[in-house]
Amino acid sequence: MSQKFRVGILGATGTVGQRFIQLLEGHPQFEVTALAASDRSQGKSYREACAWRLPGEMPASVHSLVVAAPVPPLDCDLIFSSLPGEMARETEEAFARAGYAVISNSSAFRMDEDVPLLIPEINPEHLALIATQRKARGYECGFIVTNPNCSTIMIALALAPLHARFGVESCVATTMQALSGAGYPGVASLDVVDNVLPYIGGEEEKIESETLKILGRMGDAGTVERADMRVSAQCHRVNVSDGHLAALRVKLARRVEVEEIKDALASFTALPQELRLHSAPARPIIVRDEEDRPQPRLDRDAGRGMSITIGRIRRDTVLDYRFVALSHNTVRGAAGAAILNAELLAVHGYLNQ
Ligand code: NAP
Repeated sequence: MSQKFRVGILGATGTVGQRFIQLLEGHPQFEVTALAASDRSQGKSYREACAWRLPGEMPASVHSLVVAAPVPPLDCDLIFSSLPGEMARETEEAFARAGYAVISNSSAFRMDEDVPLLIPEINPEHLALIATQRKARGYECGFIVTNPNCSTIMIALALAPLHARFGVESCVATTMQALSGAGYPGVASLDVVDNVLPYIGGEEEKIESETLKILGRMGDAGTVERADMRVSAQCHRVNVSDGHLAALRVKLARRVEVEEIKDALASFTALPQELRLHSAPARPIIVRDEEDRPQPRLDRDAGRGMSITIGRIRRDTVLDYRFVALSHNTVRGAAGAAILNAELLAVHGYLNQ
């Protein structure tokens, strides 16, 4: 194996930052060499600054790294960003301008026309936007690539094989989202015990807009032409630690049998599987036939958290089909998604520039 890329993590002490550190431990291509967080943490060793909240021990390799301010330069070749949305725009822009590849979880740049909103199984051709971005923004060798919102990743992955094979005209999504999706400390316990919260700020709009960009095609003008479908989302916070669930209803462009739907989903593989990227699950979508699956506790770790699980596939009485999808929101929905994006960028030579 050639020399590893040195990685910096912005927001390293948070929910997604910790997941980055866990998933990057022992990674064949990436080594964590820089960590940044708020002024509450800066100047402390990571061990001192971070209250580790994932099962298992904090990897020893990061114990003594000193948490820095999220300002370039940092001692690394590329940046994984898990900063809060409000401050991500200015900070990520500064790193890209300073020459870093910025692979972001935050929503700040997702919908910018010259920024790839990447799911390697669906739209690797959107990486062509990097050249447009560099030209438009005057970045010499840096750039920004984003991964979608945690629920959107799952919804787009579920729709992609159906859209490719049958055409999806519309989708109605009702999500039940885990507490870890709100970061730490997240939702107050007294708000969520014995309760469901029918509002997650900005989430419904993100699902409705991001899905169309992800499933869109690169047009002749060098921009992404939005997918021609309508998406409607209602989002709820539920008392589950990890794992977002979505009840989906779809209207298709032609009549198909339930077995064709199952086959399209279960047989779906794409470029990351072909390239055998380290974080790519053998099967991006696992279809289950039991009447009571998927469930967050039982299915969120499928494919080491990188597979989504779909079950309860049935004809719908209003649209054409309905089913339930589940994915791990901090793995496939956040840190794992960004790492898979970086693995694809590495294969295409974007990290060597
Ligand atoms: P979190 O648990 O609240 O962590 C926030 C991180 O950002 C912490 O490391 C915090 O550092 C740091 N931070 C906060 N304010 C800062 C500042 N002013 N300057 C520098 N660093 C600052 O949040 P999270 O859930 O990890 O989410 C991080 C990002 O990922 C958000 O944009 C979120 O929308 C996105 N995301 C989250 C999920 C999920 O499932 N949680 C999924 C997809 C995307 P300190 O510890 O020093 O305060």
